Amino acid sequence: MAKREKLIDPGNWASLKPFGIGENRPNNYAELWRAAKENRGRLRYAWRILRQGTCDGCALGTKGMHDWTMDEIHLCNIRLRLLRLNTMPALDPALLADAAALSRKSGAELRELGRLPYPMVRRRGEPGFTRIGWEEALDLAGGALREAAPGRFGFYMTSRGEPNENYFAAQKAVRALGSNSIDNAARVCHSPSTVMLKETLGVAATTCSYEDWIGTDLIVFIGSNVANNQPVAMKYLYHAKKAGTRIAVVNPYREPGMEKYWVPSNVESAVFGTRIADAYFQIHTGGDVAFLTGVLKHLVERGWADESFVADHTTGFGETRDLLGRLSWEELETGCGLDSAEMLRLATMIGQARGAVFVWSMGITQHEFGEDNVRAIVNLGLSKGFVGREGCGLMPIRGHSGVQGGAEMGAYATVLPGGSPLADAARFSELWGFEVPTAKGRTAPEMIDAAHDGELDVLVSSGGNFLEVLPDPAYTRAALSRARLRVHIDICVSGQMLVDPAETVLLLPAQTRYEMVGGVTETSTERRVIFSPEVEGPRIEGAWPEWRIFTELAARARPEIADKVRYEGTPQIRAEIAAAAPAYDGIQNLARFGDQFQYGGPRLCAGWTFPTPDGKARFSAVSPPPLRRADGSYTVATRRGKQFNSMVHERKDSLTGAVRDAVLMNPADADREGYSDGDPVVLSSATGEMRGRVLRAPIAPGNLQVHWPEGEVLLDRSRRSPQAGIPDYKSAEVMIKHPSD
Ligand code: SF4
Repeated sequence: MAKREKLIDPGNWASLKPFGIGENRPNNYAELWRAAKENRGRLRYAWRILRQGTCDGCALGTKGMHDWTMDEIHLCNIRLRLLRLNTMPALDPALLADAAALSRKSGAELRELGRLPYPMVRRRGEPGFTRIGWEEALDLAGGALREAAPGRFGFYMTSRGEPNENYFAAQKAVRALGSNSIDNAARVCHSPSTVMLKETLGVAATTCSYEDWIGTDLIVFIGSNVANNQPVAMKYLYHAKKAGTRIAVVNPYREPGMEKYWVPSNVESAVFGTRIADAYFQIHTGGDVAFLTGVLKHLVERGWADESFVADHTTGFGETRDLLGRLSWEELETGCGLDSAEMLRLATMIGQARGAVFVWSMGITQHEFGEDNVRAIVNLGLSKGFVGREGCGLMPIRGHSGVQGGAEMGAYATVLPGGSPLADAARFSELWGFEVPTAKGRTAPEMIDAAHDGELDVLVSSGGNFLEVLPDPAYTRAALSRARLRVHIDICVSGQMLVDPAETVLLLPAQTRYEMVGGVTETSTERRVIFSPEVEGPRIEGAWPEWRIFTELAARARPEIADKVRYEGTPQIRAEIAAAAPAYDGIQNLARFGDQFQYGGPRLCAGWTFPTPDGKARFSAVSPPPLRRADGSYTVATRRGKQFNSMVHERKDSLTGAVRDAVLMNPADADREGYSDGDPVVLSSATGEMRGRVLRAPIAPGNLQVHWPEGEVLLDRSRRSPQAGIPDYKSAEVMIKHPSD
């Protein structure tokens, strides 16, 4: 596969206007200035974090400000915005004495207050939090966990910044308590991807490396907007385009950042921009299976599939081909909103490619039928044997630095470390010296259901904010207010901490990844396990490493096995990870800046050996889901703006020009309904109502997009995917009206 890049390539320029003057695009130079201003007084510490640490933003993965894909600087505005969370001093604890006053602040305002300084407690009837010692706090929570039956507590962990060591220690602690009810943010992002990749390929992670993007014939992005969520990926795409790679995007909205992008640190791209997408396919929200299946139908009917790969290395193709024969073009066209000629256009690009990488994200997974969406992508990849070889792969790209490792460490209600099924509990019982339960634990949404139904005595939440992350915030708030004890482990204040206690709420201050003695590791999207050393700098005296908090909770709840759950430090945890998860063998040797390894090598399933029971990959006969939209209604999907996870960084997204209450609407729909840009509009679903302002945008007709988490009021919390249990964030049915109607 040729990877030679053109020196200058005017054919890929986005605009002749220098520096994209007048275009919607991020001003990355202003972001640098802003970061310097925000971190003033601690600039040297901030600089050390950037130079020595592994980025705690998305899961592309870094060593300082470099990576393993390109020689240039690896830095983006997400990382710069997150920097302050690591450098800010402690908040004034007096502020926490009035929870009602704090609850009127936005999430950003709460974060800006500063770091949690020491453990604090609020009991029912008290207006706010007061200081409590670590011993008292841990005894209180440990005592409650001892008294709660294993089915009556739940642990949840965020993905932002969490290292593998915290996840591993936490899941072991929960299992020592006799439950599998520990879950992490992977549940609400790529859980359908891991379930389906395991089922179809025998692996539960991205099969290739980022370097497979550069110089391959084709990259297909499906429901994925890396311009917003993994900004340095745009630099990889810049290099890919210069090496001749073509890019296709399948998405209801023509994401401006996926059409053209100005890479700030590359002179050619910074001045003239880079045209990213060579072809754009604007399907209906939820039309992925119909569209991708139509593409597959063309590939098969025209004899463009790799028949020898299919015959020798896969199963299930016969049923899939039979289904393709039964599905009419009309059915597929109705399901996705594009005609068969558009399906042929993508089929031709795939058919002509010698290699291709399929990249997908939340637009695929966050559906009631997220698993089927992933199956449809895998089918396409398998039809051409685009897996396990250079320039080929299936990549569920991750948005948070901790999310790949979270489930792989076993901090997941449905698997043990290394992705081992719960049925393998006996092996872990032997390894750890206590009985590991086999019953499935509660997933994150199920924990909230249980709390709502009064079936949860203790809810431990490390980071995150259920109020912002899960659909139907009123329901979630009611649920939180019913758990007898809530323990919030975090670095700063979040809205969920301020929900009135049923009995008691504990706040336990955590260390950041850069503060942890012994250093930590994260796993990137491309399965690279990266060491991030402790970075010298100021410390919050009362904050503890999370691994120690979790293990102390278990030790106090079950003192008889305390010596089996406690660790001396992160090197000891890494040694145990290597023993528990064979793919992670090597993690025990990571000790210095730059140390890393890519588990499974650059490509999984290399040589077309699939770790499935029969050694073959599996096609799935997958039918398009029925379109549920009633006459006159719209399908609304939630989307990210200028934000990281649920943390909103700016009111206006510099890539789309959309402010937080924008309702992205197709111009023809807006004309028909009588809306101009900026007109107020009310969206109502069966669950709730949202007020916004129309922004005419290049989105497929009949579809709307609103920002998340603001749009969560519209989502039906009962709509979850069947196997992974991911909530449906992408296809709420709404009616629209003028506020005066
Ligand atoms: S692209 Fe992701 S990993 Fe890279 S600097 Fe930005 S947030 Fe960090």
